[in-house]
Amino acid sequence: MPDLRGRLKANAPMSEITWFRTGGPVELLFQPADADDLAAFLAAVPADVPVLVVGVGSNLLVRDGGVRGVVIRLSAKGFGRIDVLDGHRIRAGAAVPDKRLAAAARDAGIGGFHHYHGIPGSVGGALRMNAGANGVETQERVVEVHAVDRQGMRHVLTKDDMGYAYRHSSAPADLIFTEAIFQGYAEDKAVITKMMDEVQEHRETVQPIREKTGGSTFKNPPGSSAWKEVDKAGCRGLTIGGAQMSPMHCNFMINTGSASSHDLEMLGETVRTRVLDHSGIRLDWEIKRIGEYADGEEPVQPFLGRLL
Ligand SMILES: Cc1cc2nc3c(=O)[nH]c(=O)nc-3n(C[C@H](O)[C@H](O)[C@H](O)COP(=O)(O)OP(=O)(O)OC[C@H]3O[C@@H](n4cnc5c(N)ncnc54)[C@H](O)[C@@H]3O)c2cc1C
Repeated sequence: MPDLRGRLKANAPMSEITWFRTGGPVELLFQPADADDLAAFLAAVPADVPVLVVGVGSNLLVRDGGVRGVVIRLSAKGFGRIDVLDGHRIRAGAAVPDKRLAAAARDAGIGGFHHYHGIPGSVGGALRMNAGANGVETQERVVEVHAVDRQGMRHVLTKDDMGYAYRHSSAPADLIFTEAIFQGYAEDKAVITKMMDEVQEHRETVQPIREKTGGSTFKNPPGSSAWKEVDKAGCRGLTIGGAQMSPMHCNFMINTGSASSHDLEMLGETVRTRVLDHSGIRLDWEIKRIGEYADGEEPVQPFLGRLL
C-alpha cells in the first residue's frame, strides 16, 4: 500500500452504514482522504480484489454474509464540498447529502434542486441511480461528472457519457464518482423554500421515512406504478420474519426491528412472484443487493425459482 491518508478498517459492519441496518461485515472498508488518496489506493489494490463504492446506503441491501474485498466510502471531509459557480451552476462532492445540495441551491437562489430535499442519499448515489422525485431526475441537472476507475485513472464524463435511463446509469460499473457540476436556473428563494416544504410535507404523509427502509423496492413498470401492482397482488403489509411491505407505502420494505437481509430479500422475491402470478408483470428491483449469503442461508432465487 502507498502512504494512505484515509482510514482503513477491517471487518467493518455494513449494518452501521445501510438504512436497513442489516448486513454482514466487509473485509476492508476504506475512506479515502481525497481523490488523490482514492486514486493511489485503487492503483495499488491487486486487480483480483473486488472493489465496490457505497454512498449512505439508502438504496442498498447488503446480504448477511457480508462483502468480499473492499468497500469504498467517500468521507464528508474529502468529498463533501459545495461551490456555487457562475451561470446558476453548482459543483458538489460525491459525499454531499442530497438534502444539503437542495439547501445550498436555495440559499444561492438557484432553482431545479428542490426534489433533492426529499431524497436521503448522497450525490454519488444520485449520480449512479439517476435519482429523481417530483418529476425531476438527476440527468436533467448533470453537466459534468468526475470519476476514478478501478486502476486509479481519472476521468471526466459528460451527461451523455453517463448513459442515463430510469434509475440507471450505464457509465462503466467500476467508476467511482468523486464530484459533479449541476446546472440550475434563477429562482426566487421564497418559491424554492415553499417547494421544499411541500416536498417534506408530502413525504411525511405518504412514506415511512422514519423506518429502517431502502426507499422504493421495485422500479415502476411501464404504464403502471410498482406500489399499485404490489397492492393489487395483496402484498401490502406482507411480512416475512422481521421484514414487511410497509402498510403506509407498499413499495417500501421495512425492517420492523429484527429483520435479516435474508428476510428482506425473501420478502422482495415473494412479492415479485405474487405480482407475476397476479398480473403477469415482472417487477425489477430498484434496491441494489450486494454481498454473500451467510452460512446456512439458502440463496434467494429470482421469482423464487419459478421461471428457472
Ligand atoms: C426514505 C427513502 C426515500 C427515498 N426516496 C427516493 C426518491 O424519491 N427518489 C429516488 O430516486 N430515490 C429515493 N430513495 C433511494 C435512495 O435514496 C437513492 O437511490 C439515492 O440516490 C441513493 O444514494 P446513496 O448515497 O444512499 O447510495 P447507496 O444506497 O449507498 O448506493 C446506491 C448505488 O449507488 C452507487 N454509488 C454510491 N456512491 C457512488 C459513487 N460515489 N460513485 C459511483 N457509484 C456510487 C452504489 O455502488 C450503489 O450501486 C429513497 C430512499 C429512502 C430510504
